[in-house]
Amino acid sequence: MDEQHSRPLNTALVAGPPSALPTDYGTFTLRSYTFNGITHVAMTLGEPADSEAPLVRMHSECLTGDVLGSHRCDCGDQLTASLEAISSAGTGILLYLRGQEGRGIGLENKLRAYALQDTQGLDTVEANLALGLPEDARDYQAAAHMLTHLGCNRIRLLSSNPAKSDALNQLGIEVVGRLNLQLPDRPENSAYLQSKRSRMNHDVPNGHPDVEHSTGLDVYRTIATNDEVLAQLAQSEDGFIATRSGDAMFVSGTLDRRHLHCIRAAVGAVMVGAGTVVADNPQLTVRAVEGENPVRVILDPRARIPRDSTVLQSGDAPTMWLIGADTQVEGPLAGHVQIVRLPSTSGQRVDPHQVIAVIREHVQGSILVEGGGQTVSEFLSAGALDRLFLTTAPVLIGDGVPGIRFAGSDKMSKALRYPFRRYVFGQDVCTEYVLSAAARKHSAQTPAQLREVQEQEPSIG
Ligand SMILES: [Zn+2]
Repeated sequence: MDEQHSRPLNTALVAGPPSALPTDYGTFTLRSYTFNGITHVAMTLGEPADSEAPLVRMHSECLTGDVLGSHRCDCGDQLTASLEAISSAGTGILLYLRGQEGRGIGLENKLRAYALQDTQGLDTVEANLALGLPEDARDYQAAAHMLTHLGCNRIRLLSSNPAKSDALNQLGIEVVGRLNLQLPDRPENSAYLQSKRSRMNHDVPNGHPDVEHSTGLDVYRTIATNDEVLAQLAQSEDGFIATRSGDAMFVSGTLDRRHLHCIRAAVGAVMVGAGTVVADNPQLTVRAVEGENPVRVILDPRARIPRDSTVLQSGDAPTMWLIGADTQVEGPLAGHVQIVRLPSTSGQRVDPHQVIAVIREHVQGSILVEGGGQTVSEFLSAGALDRLFLTTAPVLIGDGVPGIRFAGSDKMSKALRYPFRRYVFGQDVCTEYVLSAAARKHSAQTPAQLREVQEQEPSIG
């Protein structure tokens, strides 16, 4: 195999002279390779040709990810992790393949595809196809020639994409192992990475459900076919739903948002407290998936939400404005808004059970209590919820708008423990607490998991 090094190449590959490249990951040797009019580079560390099967990263150029720090894709993270892996192995090769932007469609088309993803909700594969371009236009001939020139026809490939090792094997490079870098998804790229996993056969990291799983959970059907009261909240690992200035963009990632929209599509009504409307001006409609908008319910005893808020202005969904028995509202309202009076409470906060009863008089189906933290917490501690979806994102906010908070207890043995199921949504972990006996019954046909959890003795320290 060592002879390969000096064997003349029967290709149009033009190899440049080696130079030293000191980097954060060690001092590499850098060479240019020009093939079919495109100049690539190879970074080598140590003497990979002497290695039995050196580590090789075949990295496709990505200006946005590699240079500009984009979180839309994982290229920058993969590049860094590959250089770290090669550095810690002490020897290896990084082939930086230029002209492979957007899986070979070029930078301009890649940005056009981004725009389509933003405006039409297409995934990364659909967007390429909508532009009349292949989902993957790359070929690895140049890379195979570069590896041959470097004396490495037997390698271990750093990649989560089996198509890359297949392509190299066909081009005469023996890939004896493929190492998946197992990087955590970022909130902004988890949907993109899930698309690559489900549509392009990329490795599914341990514990990752694919897109179908995460949007086709049995529980959506359970919610749609029963009259439950459920709540959903996404909070940071340290229990906040927004920063202290109210910035909640974005605590959890795309898949958790999709999950929320799946729940909205399954319920008859979605309710938020007035504080959420004041802080976030939400639409409360179904956009991330197909489905009908639920009735919007705004719990607002003092009628303090702004009159120009989306829920009062946009007729995308019927809106029920739940206000106090004696609260005055001036002037005419848009046709989609119906005022419904809460029972008289003589200054006390309204009992969540009464709120549910009032909503049930007007709307069929399940009711989603979507926020904010205070409203969800009140409904939880009043025992008004059948089910709670609590997503935690791996972010620490430190101080801010609290998520779940209620009058706790002195003893851990009195803390709330319920049967639960867990879902991994990209980087986020969603825990579904099955709170009521009714919900446990509705979910009984689903998972062995649920039984398992019910049988577990709580550990009391
Ligand atoms: Zn990229």
